[in-house]
Amino acid sequence: MHKKSIYRLFILLLLFANVAFAQETNDKWLETKAKRFKPLTEEQQKKITDALPARAVWIPKAARKILVFDRCEGFVHDSIPFGNFAMEQLGKKTEAFTSNLAGTYDVFTNENLKQYDAILLNNTTHMQFPEPSQLNAFLDFVASGKGLIGFHAASDNFGRHPKCLDMVGGIFNGHPWGAGGTWAFKLDDPGHILNKAFDGKGFWHQDEIYQYNPESYAGLDVLRVLVSLDMSKKEVSERINDGPREVPVSWIRKAGDGRVFYTNFGHRSETFHNAAILKHMLDGIQYALGDLEADATPTSKITDAHAALAPEKP
Ligand SMILES: [Zn+2]
Repeated sequence: MHKKSIYRLFILLLLFANVAFAQETNDKWLETKAKRFKPLTEEQQKKITDALPARAVWIPKAARKILVFDRCEGFVHDSIPFGNFAMEQLGKKTEAFTSNLAGTYDVFTNENLKQYDAILLNNTTHMQFPEPSQLNAFLDFVASGKGLIGFHAASDNFGRHPKCLDMVGGIFNGHPWGAGGTWAFKLDDPGHILNKAFDGKGFWHQDEIYQYNPESYAGLDVLRVLVSLDMSKKEVSERINDGPREVPVSWIRKAGDGRVFYTNFGHRSETFHNAAILKHMLDGIQYALGDLEADATPTSKITDAHAALAPEKP
């Protein structure tokens, strides 16, 4: 065979192998989802739709569209289909946004992302971005002025990608507050518009709560922390040996020209039946979309916020 033909054959084989690899890694998650997640029952759907806020706080300035992404390369949360359904219905009911659900990396191109106003990471873990262009499309999307929303494991996600990790604001470093417990939460900033959902009061809620690797945590000079664990309650502080200390749960921040809303709620599927948390999520989403003007001044720069602690355990 001619040398040139051998070279061409080699290139073709290489291309084929690449496509096959991409196909295989894409299908792996879709297969996992099909095996692992059963369709929600009517009763499960009703619990979510009954708890959704009736309307959005702000009328969208334009038709908004969100890419909901749920791929896991690490731990898979059973709450993922509940979060996906809740977000689809939330958009429909409030007319704040429409959404597309995806779990394969091929959605991360500049061209495809143009149609979206925000990316919502629903419990994604250990995302990889096999192609550098996919990583760049994701980073450019947020930095150029769009929105990024993360639920729960979205902070157990970017160990391979420090720039993305930095956008979120912290990475998972264990969960001393397990999913079997009901924990106390304080509002760091009770008057903040994204805390209206909680009516100015701290509260108790059952969910799994992360602490963040101190080296990765963006901290109060960057984040506007909205909700944290309430360490004044022994049920919370006794879970750690070095407490009490601050463990943030929900925050917003600017990232380039973009806006980020992250909440650690969402490990348990029941969290998506909780009316107050769903409203908090909607407000955070509308902030990320650019429709809700919220003060994102970093917490360390504000002096007038006095935390609203949780009541004693009911
Ligand atoms: Zn979890």
